[in-house]
Amino acid sequence: LLGVALVAITCMTIIALILTIVNRQSAELPYSTQYGMVFDAGSSHTALFLYQWPGNKENNTGIVSQTMMCDVKGDGISSYVTNISGAGASLKECLNVAMATIPASQQKTTPAYLGATAGMRLLNLQNNTLSDQILKEVAKTMQSYPFDFRGAKIISGMEEGAYGWITINYLLESFIKYGFDGKWIHPKSGTILGALDLGGASTQISFLPKEPVKNPQSAFDLQLYSYRYQLYTHSYLCYGKDQALKKLHAYLQKTTSPSSVIKHPCFHIGYNLTVKLSDIYNSPCVNPPTPYDPLAQVTFLGTGNSALCMSMIENIVNITNCTLYPDCGFNGVYQPPVNGEFFAFSAYFYTFDFLGLAPKASLSRVNSTIESFCNKNWTTLVAEYPNVKEKYLRDYCFSAHYIMVILLKGYKFGSSWDKISFQKQVADTDIGWTLGYMLNLTNMLPSHHPLVVTGVHN
Ligand code: AMP
Repeated sequence: LLGVALVAITCMTIIALILTIVNRQSAELPYSTQYGMVFDAGSSHTALFLYQWPGNKENNTGIVSQTMMCDVKGDGISSYVTNISGAGASLKECLNVAMATIPASQQKTTPAYLGATAGMRLLNLQNNTLSDQILKEVAKTMQSYPFDFRGAKIISGMEEGAYGWITINYLLESFIKYGFDGKWIHPKSGTILGALDLGGASTQISFLPKEPVKNPQSAFDLQLYSYRYQLYTHSYLCYGKDQALKKLHAYLQKTTSPSSVIKHPCFHIGYNLTVKLSDIYNSPCVNPPTPYDPLAQVTFLGTGNSALCMSMIENIVNITNCTLYPDCGFNGVYQPPVNGEFFAFSAYFYTFDFLGLAPKASLSRVNSTIESFCNKNWTTLVAEYPNVKEKYLRDYCFSAHYIMVILLKGYKFGSSWDKISFQKQVADTDIGWTLGYMLNLTNMLPSHHPLVVTGVHN
């Protein structure tokens, strides 16, 4: 009996020892970093964003950050209509960078997404067979890598707007914050920011209005960390800065036809551009005159006339038609009055940063800076900015005016101009729709938060 008891005691001691060792080891185990990636297939170019977060942490609040960003060489995937396989191949360089960044043991469990925005929305309207083929090609390339491929699709304008809004507020910890007392707190709803995104082919506005959204088509209902939000979001297809410039060209061409030399108030003096009519009318955003000769050429002559540039833009952005709703943005689109602080990113930021107006500047400084910039002669400008790509340099005068028209006359930010901050990043992470998209699809945005929530303000 004594022998049996001794054996039992020895066994129990050994088991206890093993358990202690195992426990200690797991307690000391470092967090295993997890990764996720999203391709932003924009109208003008594609970029890969790689995110990381501590994988075995129980709660996942405000801890995802950007590890790496890779610019895909060349134009957006919608430009590959005559070289479909090229769209897939173009992603390889960035996928290889991701392979080199993510440890081999983690690659299989790294979710990989591709979301295409307005450039592909437009191609889909023009020729959905071509847009489907391009999506298949990019999916094929992504599937040839060991990552956990979760889809390549065109995201809707509303998703694009809402995910941009989620990204900003997630990074700013406006949804939920870790308090000094070690408890999660829900910050005041007034600390939630609105999002302004200007792409090449579409532009988005998203914010929490003071009153309930009156048009269900622009209401986005969310429940995040036990709190409900009703977001107003609208995406204006064809009103990204490149398509807006196309609209301006079509307007100038139609109003000066049959002349083939056309004064262009938003191009600098000394900058001339000769294009075929098919280059202007090749988009569903513009209506060609009937009949028209696609091969006929026109030459735009820059006149750098700020006041005229502004009034021409007002002609292409319909700011008077507000018949259906008393509150509206532009083009007769319903929009409640803007509310709270906003971050303006993407081409809003690129333009204002270039002009030295980011993150904030007074309206009078903004206006005088834009005017004096547009007055500059093209030759002087190119010499002054040898490192800025000419395609960007050419467009800053137009895009600055376009931004002022949509912000002031479209969205009506007049009295709340100082509420807009032109930003690119929060906490070293780029602002855009990709992070919000990944957080949502990987269920990292819990609708019911398990932890105690204190300090509630509504
Ligand atoms: P998307 O490709 O639709 O996201 O559009 C981005 C827009 O910003 C396009 O009109 C680009 O030409 C423009 N853009 C991108 N990078 C820059 C930059 N560094 N400076 C100025 N404009 C830019």
